[in-house]
Amino acid sequence: MTDYINIDGSLGEGGGQILRSSIALSMITGKALHVFNIRAKRSKPGLLRQHLTAVKAAIAISQAEATGVQLGATEFWFEPKSIQGGDYFFAIGSAGSASLVMQTILYPLMFASVASAVRVEGGTYNDFAPTYDFLQEVLLPYLQRMGAKITLVLDRYGFYPQGGGHMTLTVEPSVLKPIKFTEFNGWHDVIAESIACRMPKETVGQQVKALQRIPEVTEGKETRLPSKCGTGNVLYLRLKGGDYSELLVGFGGARVATATVIKAVKRQANKLLGAKVGVGEYLADQLLLPMALAGSGSFETMQPTQHSLTNAAVIGQLLGIGIQFKSSENGLCKVIIDSG
Ligand code: ATP
Repeated sequence: MTDYINIDGSLGEGGGQILRSSIALSMITGKALHVFNIRAKRSKPGLLRQHLTAVKAAIAISQAEATGVQLGATEFWFEPKSIQGGDYFFAIGSAGSASLVMQTILYPLMFASVASAVRVEGGTYNDFAPTYDFLQEVLLPYLQRMGAKITLVLDRYGFYPQGGGHMTLTVEPSVLKPIKFTEFNGWHDVIAESIACRMPKETVGQQVKALQRIPEVTEGKETRLPSKCGTGNVLYLRLKGGDYSELLVGFGGARVATATVIKAVKRQANKLLGAKVGVGEYLADQLLLPMALAGSGSFETMQPTQHSLTNAAVIGQLLGIGIQFKSSENGLCKVIIDSG
């Protein structure tokens, strides 16, 4: 009889991350999972299209036997076999985040014996998820420094709520090594950029000008996409300093007031620039899994979010690794990953 590890999806944050991290680690360790109370703390619990696609992708890639995997399911059983590299295509069937599907399969594919190319169709610019640019400019360079042989290409833009975007991830078999973070000495390039498709010219200009009032901003950029890209808008603040990079985002669009988008980016900028730290809250929770796979490491960030704490608990449970969050006097927090 299969010995399933029980993963309670209502733990801490009670969201979709519990599912993605546990499935990824199940594929890597070969441990079978019973996930229950899926997304119990969300207003619409259970598997939404994005989560369902992630689990189906995991089933295909690890040739898993699974029971209960369907739209809206609040529990399922998952028993992986071996990870098969190769070419895959997964369509979410809604504007659900393609990045979060990538997040689920990216690490297991490094353990395959051959290279993979995975195309995912869905949203490439979604609120509450990493945008394509965040993966490309922030997360991937860290992973590449750790030894990951991965590339990502945006084939087609997919703004919410239309979706229809395409991203292709290539992953070669790779071994993640611990990363050494240098001391953070501040941001030297801080660029405000509005990327827009079928949005009024004035809106784009207004967004960039508003961010240029932040004293640290060094440059402003307006990028207008051809109308075939759909209707959509993201306002970015790109930060680079030494080995560190971050990307703060506000989501615009036909029905979002310009002031709301600007306010969202300014709020995040105040927090990150005020904290004087190189790793922001989203990057912090996304670094936990690769760093745990590398076996050790540490970095400084802001006070941990519930999301980070929950992700750390799931990773700890499945990998038997310790992830500590040590608050320091300057209001920051040191995250220490240690398999010892
Ligand atoms: P749920 O709807 O249950 O919350 P979910 O699957 O949509 O589930 P979360 O569990 O909230 O997602 O996880 C969201 C992921 O997206 C996390 O890894 C988080 O770091 C990342 N994320 C959210 N917002 C941003 C952002 N603005 N920039 C980069 N990454 C982000």
